[in-house]
Amino acid sequence: MTAAKKTKPSERPENAARPCLTEMPYRAVVFAELNQHNVPLYFVGGSSAPKCKAEKALKVAFGIHGGSCFYCKKAILEADLSIDHVEPTSNEGGKAIQNLLIAHRKCNQKKAALPIEAFHPDAGKEWLTALLAQVEDRLKRIDTSK
Ligand SMILES: [Zn+2]
Repeated sequence: MTAAKKTKPSERPENAARPCLTEMPYRAVVFAELNQHNVPLYFVGGSSAPKCKAEKALKVAFGIHGGSCFYCKKAILEADLSIDHVEPTSNEGGKAIQNLLIAHRKCNQKKAALPIEAFHPDAGKEWLTALLAQVEDRLKRIDTSK
């Protein structure tokens, strides 16, 4: 790809590499760029931390902005923090920011490998709805006029 090539909005990586959840700490994680392996790197709003991958960025964002467990909705102390991969991480895609939630270690262990909607229907509905809204927004960016 050459620098002169014009990128359509639908092709910009930030459209595919942003959190689907809009509350803190998720919305503090902002896409910066793709690294040499095409892995998204993020800035964390309110932080001077260097660009980093999604899981690290979410931990940094939690450290600054705090947050509550996506499952039980109670506050998390830093020592109890875990990053839940909603879908199992069998590939790099599983580490995408959309797939990460903050949860208590105990809540994360209870969920184990269950589908989110089976483990916690309310949390599953909330996450799937946010993901669907993001997918619908991306679908709208596809230029079908040609
Ligand atoms: Zn919890």
